[in-house]
Amino acid sequence: MRTTTGWQADPTTHTLRRATLQRRDLRPDDVAVRVDYCGVCHTDLHALHAHKDDTDGALVPGHEFTGTVSEVGSAVTDFAPGDAVAVGNIVDSCGTCPMCRAGQENFCREFPTLTYGASDRQDGTGTLGGYSREYLVREKFAYHLPAGLDPAAAAPLLCAGITVWEPLQALGVGPGSTVAVAGLGGLGHLAVKLAAALGATTFVISRTPDKAEEAHSLGAHGFVVSTDAGQMEAVRDRFDVVIDTISSPHDLTPYLQTVAMDGTLSHLGHLGPITVNTTDLLIGRKKLSSAGSGGRPSTAAMLRFCAENHITADIELLPSSQVNTALARLELGDVRYRFVLDMSDLD
Ligand code: ZN
Ligand code: ZN
Repeated sequence: MRTTTGWQADPTTHTLRRATLQRRDLRPDDVAVRVDYCGVCHTDLHALHAHKDDTDGALVPGHEFTGTVSEVGSAVTDFAPGDAVAVGNIVDSCGTCPMCRAGQENFCREFPTLTYGASDRQDGTGTLGGYSREYLVREKFAYHLPAGLDPAAAAPLLCAGITVWEPLQALGVGPGSTVAVAGLGGLGHLAVKLAAALGATTFVISRTPDKAEEAHSLGAHGFVVSTDAGQMEAVRDRFDVVIDTISSPHDLTPYLQTVAMDGTLSHLGHLGPITVNTTDLLIGRKKLSSAGSGGRPSTAAMLRFCAENHITADIELLPSSQVNTALARLELGDVRYRFVLDMSDLD
């Protein structure tokens, strides 16, 4: 086993404490990554709150990180020590099911192996996430970080970025499309940047009027206050695609009413049961969909697109020792738009 240092959940306090972590020995198809920067995702917060004890293994969150290859296994061909890499929330999959063969490892029928809180497919040990100084990952699930992308601000592309990129691509967003992004947080702000860079006329729908200026600075062409009935009526049947990134359960009716005929609302921010009035779909033949994370080909394509278009997340960079502050502020929605932890203080 190899050891590294990271931030591990304390189930009694629901906070993270610095701990020595054990990782597997390097396998032939592994790359060892010195984690330099790791984004703080809502999922990390949910995982921390849900972690009642260590009986199913320790919890070390973190699933959007960038770093530097420190060592490669004997069978690795695509990476060498010193390479800049990025890792997202999937670190393995079966590789043979129809979803994996289609390059959609995120939908693997055997369920993809998640970067933390999962069982390694080979030895059954629990996966420990990127809130640590070193991570071992199969070569297949590491991505070259293109030159020109700031490694700290690029970290959130690997979860928040790919989660909004796949539906934008799948729904054919490009020049001539009109897109609305509901909710302007970690996912939403990247959806605005990506949709605008893809050539779509892009709107933000937000509860708070004071985000209008920031929405425009992110590239949005229009801004709609969701609590203003007149403004919502003015965009009725308007958007080919609505990317709904609101992270709490909410009524979809007002958002579905803004979808154009034959358009789609992609519901990304909140997982779980919802109630939909199908009349809201019937009128205008509207579609409701969802998405999450991404496959290997689209993750690589998203990173290339971001490099070409100079897109990264707007971040607040903190030393990793302030991880508990970051999580507490994220819970309050007090971040514009993503916390990223600098892991160098773990040395
Ligand atoms: Zn995430
Ligand atoms: Zn599979």
